[in-house]
Amino acid sequence: MSDCLFCKIAAGEIPSSKVYEDDDVFAFKDINPKAPTHVLVIPKIHVATLSDAKDPALLGMLMSRVQYIADEVLELESGYRVITNVREGGGQIVFHLHVHILGGKSLPF
Ligand code: 5GP
Ligand code: ZN
Repeated sequence: MSDCLFCKIAAGEIPSSKVYEDDDVFAFKDINPKAPTHVLVIPKIHVATLSDAKDPALLGMLMSRVQYIADEVLELESGYRVITNVREGGGQIVFHLHVHILGGKSLPF
């Protein structure tokens, strides 16, 4: 989607601190980290929000990559938190589906 911030980041048109990329996903450091490790994982195809993601294969792929990135790339051995904010009421600001990985310290509920 031409005017989407995260599509532009995935395409390399806007710089980011990339931590992982493959054919399906792009992962990069959050510009305003809420924990010592704060990474966003996005599908390369544009889906605005979780409510629009009707394809179980897409959702399975995305969560599988989140697990791989957190465990094998970021090596968050003591654990981590995975969050997806959904639409305005859920605190979503950027309307390209993304999963937050937070880790590196003990997280309160
Ligand atoms: P949301 O509230 O939509 O779930 O989270 C969007 C996240 O994107 C926020 O944590 C925010 O800090 C991050 N973010 C917004 N703009 C940029 C940007 O240009 N680059 C990076 N790396 N992160 C961004
Ligand atoms: Zn997009």
